[in-house]
Amino acid sequence: MTKKTILVLAAVASLVLTAACKKAPAIEAAAAPTAAADTIYTGGDIVTINDAHPAAEAVAVKDGRILAVGARADIERANKGPATKVVDLAGKTLLPGFIDPHSHYVNSLTMANQVNVFAPPAGPGKDVDAIVAEIKKFRDERKIPEGELIMGYGYDETIMPGGRTLGRDDLDKAFPNNPVIVGHNSLHGGVLNSAALKKFGISAATKTPAGGIIVRKKGSNEPDGLVMETAWIPIFSSLPKPNAEQEVEWSKAGQMIYAAAGITTAQEGATHATDVALMQRAAAGGAAIIDVIAFPFILDLDPILKDNPPSTFGPYKNHFKLGGVKITLDGSPQGRTAFFTRPYLVDGPNGEKNWSGELPFSQDTVNGWFKRVYDLGLPLNVHANGDAAIDVLVKAHEFAAAGSLDKDRRTTIIHSQFVRLDQLDKYVTYKFIPSFFTEHTFYFGETHMKQRGKEQAYFLSPMRAAIDKGLHPTNHTDYNVSPIDQMFVVWTAVNRVSRSGEVIGPDQRITPLEALKAITINAAYQYFEEKSKGSIEPGKLADLVILDRNPIKVDPMTIKDIKVVGTIKEGKTIYTAN
Ligand SMILES: [Zn+2]
Repeated sequence: MTKKTILVLAAVASLVLTAACKKAPAIEAAAAPTAAADTIYTGGDIVTINDAHPAAEAVAVKDGRILAVGARADIERANKGPATKVVDLAGKTLLPGFIDPHSHYVNSLTMANQVNVFAPPAGPGKDVDAIVAEIKKFRDERKIPEGELIMGYGYDETIMPGGRTLGRDDLDKAFPNNPVIVGHNSLHGGVLNSAALKKFGISAATKTPAGGIIVRKKGSNEPDGLVMETAWIPIFSSLPKPNAEQEVEWSKAGQMIYAAAGITTAQEGATHATDVALMQRAAAGGAAIIDVIAFPFILDLDPILKDNPPSTFGPYKNHFKLGGVKITLDGSPQGRTAFFTRPYLVDGPNGEKNWSGELPFSQDTVNGWFKRVYDLGLPLNVHANGDAAIDVLVKAHEFAAAGSLDKDRRTTIIHSQFVRLDQLDKYVTYKFIPSFFTEHTFYFGETHMKQRGKEQAYFLSPMRAAIDKGLHPTNHTDYNVSPIDQMFVVWTAVNRVSRSGEVIGPDQRITPLEALKAITINAAYQYFEEKSKGSIEPGKLADLVILDRNPIKVDPMTIKDIKVVGTIKEGKTIYTAN
């Protein structure tokens, strides 16, 4: 640069500065905003989930991000321009959009084509007759032709009156000419009728695979209908998937199930290779309404890494990202397939005596998986329900992370339902994040009391103990294990009331604000997204939800009745209640 050029540049700069100085008073005189917002939300409670500024009167949003949060007069003065839209909350409550810490998003794509047989209040499935009647109604309404597969979801055997559970014979009577599968609410199994058993090649001659369950008729080798765990996996993998034209449409329908519940970020919690490809195609094809984070299943990791090397994990593309890897250790406590150090108080699912559940994998196998994922530098989500399964994962971590045991990996223990107090100390030391499932206190409170005893049942999903130890737990629905209903998640964390009205572990109840943090800021942290999501703060994404009442102010027992009235993703309204 010559001396002359510098002089010229200096002169230009000086002119610009002078012009700017002269113009400044004009701006003030016109009272034009410093930065005009696209939208200002005001006129109701604003729960920011930001401890530094927990409440505000107004939120300004611009270009999909939060521009300012504060007093209404200040925001309107600074951020209201001629084109700014002011949304009157009319006494309703604004919160950050809910972040789903664990569910199975890909299942939502087919939900619209299946029949809900959840137990009340989530569905009509109170007994065998009610389930069969509901499937019949579905078949008739949809005019499903003979021979076509009929599917239901949400079957809860634990509440069947008198222990009379659903079997193939019940379904055969009503559906002699259609294969029928009624998905178990653990997502780890289903009840098949004779046509479906035939379709998937399960008969009296089929050997039960290791780690699997094929319930047999009394005194015979004939399958009774219920198939679970490793015996269920091949059936689940070959269930019908949407074709190319249906992918985008079904994905949008699935995302709207989440949006209607106020969720702006959803998890796909155990993803197979074909599903990763499907979600990427659908996202690129215009199905992106909310953010979706997928955790490839460890057994599918190799084919997924071929097209998606570790360096591609983390950032969103078309609102879809690979968040890490999922390892599943044990089963479900209500299905008596969770793995415990002490036996269940009842027999196992196949009548086993002195049954503690079991792990389908050796400690060595689990160690190898942890090492592989940690060496790849990818975040890890581990499904573990029973305390023995948690012992296994603690050992696997100590093996795989030797030398950097407390590194910030955001290793998340999905469910952690029967974690022991001493294991929570390991969570603190190793920086594990517990993602609990407090809805079990309602749905399965009585079952856990019967199967595990009062002491363990009362410490189920111990949110209070975890928070008091300084952990930042999240809390999930495991959809479609239970319906997506974030206010029900909060209600169960705050009240822990069972179906019969018993408080399952009064000591483990938490405050509504703590329960909200578990589905907002803590969940953002779980995904390494706490800088962009989880609270209403300037600079973060304008992912918001509007509720008809404030969960922090209402009678805690009425939290479950609060309704989502609107959901906003990056400043755009994606859902409005009718
Ligand atoms: Zn799950």
